Amino acid sequence: MRKVLVLTEAKAGNLRGVSLEALTAAKLIAEGGEIIAVAIGSDATHYANILGKHGANKVYIIGNEKLDVYTTDAYSQAMRQVIEHVDPEAILFPHTVIGKDLAPRIAARFGLGLVSDVVDVEVENNDVIFTRPIYSGKAFEKKKTVSGIPFATVRPNNIPVEEAFSTIEIVRFNVEINDIRTVVREVVRKAVGGVDLSEAKIVISGGRGVKSADGFKPLQELAEVLGGAVGASRGACDAEYCDYSLQIGQTGKVVTPDLYIACGISGAIQHLAGMSNSKIVVAINKDPEAPIFQIADYGIVGDLFEVVPLLTEEFKKLVNS
Ligand code: FAD
Repeated sequence: MRKVLVLTEAKAGNLRGVSLEALTAAKLIAEGGEIIAVAIGSDATHYANILGKHGANKVYIIGNEKLDVYTTDAYSQAMRQVIEHVDPEAILFPHTVIGKDLAPRIAARFGLGLVSDVVDVEVENNDVIFTRPIYSGKAFEKKKTVSGIPFATVRPNNIPVEEAFSTIEIVRFNVEINDIRTVVREVVRKAVGGVDLSEAKIVISGGRGVKSADGFKPLQELAEVLGGAVGASRGACDAEYCDYSLQIGQTGKVVTPDLYIACGISGAIQHLAGMSNSKIVVAINKDPEAPIFQIADYGIVGDLFEVVPLLTEEFKKLVNS
């Protein structure tokens, strides 16, 4: 039995799905032990019950005005105090922008090893074994911690979320935040609405084949009908057809949706690094020799401007029927 501490994360007041994946992984690691979820922000109270429904026994809610906007300094001070207080036997963070920034700092502070970007967890002979992708997702390695407690970041969209009803105790935990060296004066949000790309179950991506910013419109319509998110290749970003925040690949975001529809994307190795672990890949390309077809489960050779609207119409019928 282990006491596992999980940092959860919310975006615009909504709990991020990866938090529940981390709780599911924590349940496995805890082997019947206690699971403590940490929720930062005063608005965390309204989703504390959801954390309980997914296995958390205790939810530590940390409200402090210095934590309203993420800064490495403030969050690491807060997490250091929680960890010292809870004294966990394993720690999980989400592999998000915040988790990626914070985890190494916390690991260094406590002298712990960190296994980042894990996609699976198992316990074998009392050892916690994490699986993580290497070589841009072409292979997987298994890692265990040989000294100190297991500490890992969990990649979104890989661990099937399980419900595990438990009664929760809510603990309001006060932290002292001193000496913040960076102050965020203003947060300017990009006007990217809809589903979060890194957690989307369906991603419709456009490449240089969309030919213009307007060329993304049919993809956006398809994404809307399917409740998915729009992504892009670097080719499309470099050509200024869309914002770099949509870029998927080696130097962009890594996505693992249930369905990835690549439209007008050739399938360069650097793009595959960000999406080849998607469960089903559909490629639409007018060149039958395009390398994307080698990894696609379904390939459609044709003009995306004809194929995508047809798909949208057919999916609309299904959704409305
Ligand atoms: P192209 O290779 O030009 O392909 C366009 C495709 O569209 C073609 O296959 C064409 O047949 C098809 N097409 C054209 N018109 C139509 C139409 N009407 N209907 C259907 N199909 C059509 N790339 C990434 O994506 N992500 C990364 O993170 C990334 N990181 C990189 C890092 C490094 C260090 C380097 C060197 C490169 C990186 N790249 C990355 C760039 C990568 O090598 C490719 O250049 C890029 O992915 C190509 O984008 P594309 O497939 O959109 O464009």
